[in-house]
Amino acid sequence: MSANGGTDQNARQQQYLDAMGILRWQLRDRESLLDTGVVQGADELPSGEAISTQVSSDKVVEPGTPDDRHSDVSTLDWDALQFRVSHCTACDLHAGRTQTVFGVGDHNADWLVIGEAPGADEDAQGEPFVGRAGQLLNAMLLACGLKREQVFIANILKCRPPDNRDPRPEEVVSCESFLMRQIELIQPKLILAVGRIAAQNLLQCDTPIGKLRGKVHQFRDTRIPLIATYHPAYLLRSPAEKRKAWQDLQLAMRTTREGNS
Ligand code: URA
Repeated sequence: MSANGGTDQNARQQQYLDAMGILRWQLRDRESLLDTGVVQGADELPSGEAISTQVSSDKVVEPGTPDDRHSDVSTLDWDALQFRVSHCTACDLHAGRTQTVFGVGDHNADWLVIGEAPGADEDAQGEPFVGRAGQLLNAMLLACGLKREQVFIANILKCRPPDNRDPRPEEVVSCESFLMRQIELIQPKLILAVGRIAAQNLLQCDTPIGKLRGKVHQFRDTRIPLIATYHPAYLLRSPAEKRKAWQDLQLAMRTTREGNS
């Protein structure tokens, strides 16, 4: 990522922060921000970093070779993995889905955003985070200088649970190898877990999200830093928490920058 400051950039970032509905006052006066201790250093403000893009296409995934179809998920390439996901019947959720929601974005992304599971909009469109929560997620990413296409977005589950209920443990287990393979293929510099379900499953704990957020974890036995924050759907219901989410995003930006230096 390369720093790319400037007045236009700042104006755009202010718009994105406005779209998130948070901390408008912060950008009016960077110095007063530093005084309040909300931000520790000027470099914590969004810098509008640009990331090279390689947006995945929406191409139709053809069936893999017979070998692909029977080989271990951990050996599959992107196309074979997507095919395998789209035909998965490992848990009962397959019966109620319109389609699987594989994930979308840059296969070489620095940031991998992981949510919970598809909702009704995602099940209908086959893409994660396309409803109202998705719009807020887009605004949160833009506040960090990242377009949606510059990150990869996935979920713990690839199929929609009925009535938006929480994923069941057996569903998470059935689906896990797909997400693990996505992580291996992307090798992100940062995992951003949005919401309690994503954070607890990725970190294999039952700690409340309020305690998981605000710090840098490590994703299992990898060196990939993982930052947990509130789910955008929760932020829509509890806008007062957006300020904390913004702090988490600042931590995420700082962590990526430090990892690069
Ligand atoms: N909520 C999620 O966690 N994931 C989606 O894809 C949509 C809403």
